[in-house]
Amino acid sequence: MNKQERYEKVLTYFKNNVPIAETELNYSDPYQLLVAVILSAQCTDKRVNMVTPALFEAFPTIETLANSSSDEVFTYIKSISYPNNKAKHLVGMAKMLLNDFGGIVPGDIDELQKMPGVGRKTANVIASVVYDKPAMAVDTHVFRVSARLGLTMGAKNPLQAEQQLVKNIPQKLIPIAHHWLILHGRYTCLARNPQCVTCKLQEFCKYFEQNFLKQKVSTNIKVKLQGYGKKTLKKAVKKSTKKAGKKGG
Ligand code: SF4
Repeated sequence: MNKQERYEKVLTYFKNNVPIAETELNYSDPYQLLVAVILSAQCTDKRVNMVTPALFEAFPTIETLANSSSDEVFTYIKSISYPNNKAKHLVGMAKMLLNDFGGIVPGDIDELQKMPGVGRKTANVIASVVYDKPAMAVDTHVFRVSARLGLTMGAKNPLQAEQQLVKNIPQKLIPIAHHWLILHGRYTCLARNPQCVTCKLQEFCKYFEQNFLKQKVSTNIKVKLQGYGKKTLKKAVKKSTKKAGKKGG
């Protein structure tokens, strides 16, 4: 299966089976989403959702957050990862948002990244979710799932993965494709224990092809060549795996 076919199959599967895919962070406006995404760095959405109701009640507007201190903010977010840094970032972000952007969350990736605590991933999430721009935020799930599926090849960092994905996914699908890949990584293609046996994408997945197919071929050949030497067996497995891989596309 070539790269273009793989993209087509994967995207078609998601389009048909996951027509709605959204962020699992709770928010009600761009300010709240920006705060939640900053908090979600190296932390689960579930945990972020546990702290944001009280946080948003205490700091309901950009102004209230900008006029607070990081010590005050810390008390609301101390149960999530890196609370000290994130508290400082949130106050700094709110100040800049107020002073430099008139209190409006910008949609431009470069402008977003000027704010404390806002890296490329966070900026892409805001551009994509709030402004529906074709921006692909690559987090750990997107990075892993797209590499396993074979949508990205040899990407050494999130930026390289982002560039490959954006190049190959139709623009209008990029915002939802980000959520498709995240959700697939969160619930099926788990980091340590991918659920390949029940995964509906196994037919189009490079990782599956390389791991499970080889295992299956190896078992079949071993049964057929019982009594032959190790060398013969190894050669036969290699040859048949190659053949099966071609057949499977
Ligand atoms: S087959 Fe396995 S590796 Fe491939 S996408 Fe599914 S869970 Fe992930």
